[in-house]
Amino acid sequence: MNWCCPVFKDYVSVAGERGYAILINKFEEKSLLFILQHRSIDPGKESLVTSSTPLSLETNAHIAFCPWCGTDLHAFYEKQDVAGNGGSDSNA
Ligand SMILES: [Zn+2]
Repeated sequence: MNWCCPVFKDYVSVAGERGYAILINKFEEKSLLFILQHRSIDPGKESLVTSSTPLSLETNAHIAFCPWCGTDLHAFYEKQDVAGNGGSDSNA
């Protein structure tokens, strides 16, 4: 897989973990969705959080351009065979 930049690759590699990450999902088996995600705590630990104030433990924002290098993500990645979270790394 070819990456637009090393930083984008690094953020895809930590998808699903605590902190910031990039998720790449397929939409209706056709186009790709690029999601900038932030998780406040480790996955599976959400039930341990108690608060009298509403909290956002996970936030997701769809993006169209790489936040670091400005590449048009759809134009760059949709011609590649990107599956699931894009975590596969056959061309490091
Ligand atoms: Zn990039």
